[in-house]
Amino acid sequence: MDTIKGKLNKVIDFVRKDTGAVNEPKKITVIVRVLLLSYIVYYAINILLCGFMYMYFHSMALFVLYIVACLAMFAMTYRGKTSFTLWGFVAVTLVCVVSYVHFLGWNTGVQHFLMILLILYFFSKYKNYGKKIVFAVCITVFRLCLFRLYYMRTPEIVLLSGEINTLQIINTVMIFWCISFICFVCSESSQELEGKLLEYNAILEKQATEDALTGLYNRRKGRDLLNAVSENKEMADSCCVSIGDIDYFKKINDTYGHDAGDEVLKTLAGLFQSEMRRRDFAIRWGGEEFLFVFFNCNGDEAYAMLEKLRSKVQETVIATNGHEIKVTMTFGLTEFLKQEDVEATLKAADEKLYRGKEEGRNRIIY
Ligand code: GH3
Ligand code: MG
Ligand code: MG
Repeated sequence: MDTIKGKLNKVIDFVRKDTGAVNEPKKITVIVRVLLLSYIVYYAINILLCGFMYMYFHSMALFVLYIVACLAMFAMTYRGKTSFTLWGFVAVTLVCVVSYVHFLGWNTGVQHFLMILLILYFFSKYKNYGKKIVFAVCITVFRLCLFRLYYMRTPEIVLLSGEINTLQIINTVMIFWCISFICFVCSESSQELEGKLLEYNAILEKQATEDALTGLYNRRKGRDLLNAVSENKEMADSCCVSIGDIDYFKKINDTYGHDAGDEVLKTLAGLFQSEMRRRDFAIRWGGEEFLFVFFNCNGDEAYAMLEKLRSKVQETVIATNGHEIKVTMTFGLTEFLKQEDVEATLKAADEKLYRGKEEGRNRIIY
């Protein structure tokens, strides 16, 4: 079992090997190699069917020639540039399609192999829209000319209708396999890239709106939120805003160290998030100041919620570096001033906070 797996891995590595040309993307080369190997299997099936089963022995020479051409092309993919590989594959496919139609007729559906070329070319070039359009036009014209020449013409080998049906099925399976494979490989990398971009955007968005220490929204996001409230009259009518500041925080830093101060900020942020309603927001407004936004309530209701928060802060013991720290907070609370702007609301909350500090701290001024 292991030896089969090992051999299979060796084959896969061989097919995925880089091209000899420098600075060349290898994706298209690898796709072409897989397509050529698929062609070889497909022509071998044709030899078995048309040659050995249907007894059209002279068709075998044709299929053997195709296999030789595919093998030669396969070998060249290890040396040439991507464009050489691509155009070589286009040439091999065109010759095969024309001679197949010429010898076995239009009705086996082999002309649809041209779709493989179209899709491969569209995925192979980055931008280059002009060339893609020219290529599509050329393939369309080629297909129409082939139709004009061969649709009514009796082929060299006249197949029976059962034989035609079988070849139709084989051709259809082969074409769908090739197209699916190209689409899978080419869309896989762009989807992966798109996924990475989305992830990166989410990280950037998080960095732009979130405070790194506490995980709360930052001042910028807080402003956006208040601006949004001010633009929605209904929301503004039932919104309250408070600015809260930790009392004597400088002392905490001076006594226990800056890290302990950080720990206090993080613990309080966690407390706000767990105690506040989901619809309300706690925002790190700056240093040891927090902005609180309460929705769907009047000033009295906001006061009650804030009072619960204030007493929770007062009760909380923060254990850090072997110390047990307790802090209090002072809040200035105001209803959203709808007649005025965001600045006026913030100013009102800030003035009340200042008054709270003057009146002795650890309180809410409303
Ligand atoms: P008051 O009761 O009047 O608010 O006194 P206070 O000491 O809290 O106020 P003050 O403005 O004098 O000091 C605030 C301190 O907060 C000063 C600053 O070093 C500290 N600080 C600001 N941001 C951070 C931070 O992210 N981490 C830590 N550990 N300290 C911070
Ligand atoms: Mg303070
Ligand atoms: Mg302060």
